[in-house]
Amino acid sequence: MEDKKRILIIEDESSICDILSYAFRKEGYLVKCAFKGKDGLSRVEGFSPDVIILDLMLPDISGFDVCKEITAKYKIPIIMLTARSDIIDKVLGLELGADDYITKPFDIREVTARVKTAFRRMENLRETLSNRQMVYINDHVNIDKKAMTVYKDGVEVKLKPKEYELLLLFCENKDKVLTREEILDRVWGLDYEGGLRTVDVHVQRIRKKLDVEGAPSIIDTVFGIGYKMSCRS
Ligand code: CA
Repeated sequence: MEDKKRILIIEDESSICDILSYAFRKEGYLVKCAFKGKDGLSRVEGFSPDVIILDLMLPDISGFDVCKEITAKYKIPIIMLTARSDIIDKVLGLELGADDYITKPFDIREVTARVKTAFRRMENLRETLSNRQMVYINDHVNIDKKAMTVYKDGVEVKLKPKEYELLLLFCENKDKVLTREEILDRVWGLDYEGGLRTVDVHVQRIRKKLDVEGAPSIIDTVFGIGYKMSCRS
C-alpha cells in the first residue's frame, strides 16, 4: 500500500498553488489545491491531509476562520501563508491553532523545510501516543501492546498466542465477568470444537505464568459462570 504524505493547499492565487504543488510533488507528496476557504474545508474530510497550507486572505472566508474550523475538528498541522507580517496576525493565528507561518514572498525551500518539520512533529506525537500502549494489570504484570510483550516484575514472560489473546480480552473487560462460552467464542471462534475445557486450561496457564506468590491471582474464578480480571491498580 502506498503511504504518500498528503498536503492540502488552500490558496486562491493559482500561481502560488502551482509553485507549491510542483515542489511538493517533486518531494513525492500527494497534493490537492482548493482556491476557496469553503472548498478547502470540504476537502479535509475526504482527502485527509497530513498537513495543510492555508492562505490567510481568501475570497470567501478568512484563513483564520478556516483554521478555527479545522483545528476544532482535526489534529492536522496547519502552516499559514500570509502576505502580512504584522505580529498581531501571528499571535491571533497561533491562538487559533496554526502550527507555523510563512510570510509571502517565500522561498520554496523554506516551505518544504517547514512541511517536513510539521511531519516530524506529527510523527513524534504519534510515537508518544503509541508508547502509551503500556497496560498495567497489577503491581507486577504489565503488557506492552505495541511489542505484544508481557512482563512480570520487569521480566519478559513468554505467552502462547492464544494465552496472549485471552489476557488482552480480560484486560479489555476489566471487572466484567466473562462466561466460558463467551471467552471461547471470542478467542477461539465459533467453529472451534475444543470445548470449554480449553478456556480453563488457558486460564490455568496464564495464572501459572503470571501469578505472584502471596498475591491475588491475575484472573478470578466466578464460580459456575466464568472468569474475571479485577481492577487492582
Ligand atoms: Ca490570497
